Amino acid sequence: MRTPLLAGNWKMHKTPSEARVWFAEFLEANPTLQSGGQAAVEVALLPSFPLVPVAAEQLAGSGVAWGAQDVSAHTFGAYTGEVAAEQLADLGCRYVVVGHSERRAYWNESDALVAAKARRAMEAGLVPILCVGERLEEREAGRAVSFTLEQLAGSLEGVGLETGEELVIAYEPVWAIGTGKTASADDAQAMAAAIRGFLAERYGESVAGRTRILYGGSMKPANTTEILAGPDVDGGLVGGASLEVASFSAMVEAA
Ligand code: PEP
Repeated sequence: MRTPLLAGNWKMHKTPSEARVWFAEFLEANPTLQSGGQAAVEVALLPSFPLVPVAAEQLAGSGVAWGAQDVSAHTFGAYTGEVAAEQLADLGCRYVVVGHSERRAYWNESDALVAAKARRAMEAGLVPILCVGERLEEREAGRAVSFTLEQLAGSLEGVGLETGEELVIAYEPVWAIGTGKTASADDAQAMAAAIRGFLAERYGESVAGRTRILYGGSMKPANTTEILAGPDVDGGLVGGASLEVASFSAMVEAA
């Protein structure tokens, strides 16, 4: 059984002081997450780098995991501005996002670079949340599935999953991110099923069966239940709606 994952991508929002208040309020609003243990839904928060030590301090021992939004493809060395996977692991991060569409679009991150980042994250014991998804032009041309699977194949080049490494895939249609438009629950399920089929073909049924596939793109409390109803949709990557304690708590409740 795959435990659903609801992960909040805070992007470049909040100061460390604001994060401190947010974490405290969130744990207070969600008493079942105040201590660890088996939960029906796994919750994770992915703040920007300077906020990660705050998360480590305040979420340690709770049922909320934390992580980061990017990682270097390099090991330690002369790479000014980069953050190594081991630095994140040492701060207790469980997850790291790789290949978010904003990084692909604004920093021209290629599939090969995303794959290198995923491999580095796994080497350090982190679980990559690998983002893929089509733009509006591909969807309108009827190429959403082929484009997304091709991007996934490139972003998994050299990424081995056969020996039990964990990976999460987030299907995030670019046209739905931060726009208020969401994929229909049927489209989200259809894409998740196509991704699972791809994983089965490439890595075998066991990897396909255990890998969680999230939906991301303007998820909010009102559409969470419907989107997560798809049997292949194992949770959500949530941007804007994860910034407020009330809305993210409502989504945890719905999930
Ligand atoms: C995201 O950036 O991963 C995302 C899904 O953003 P939003 O929920 O704001 O569309």
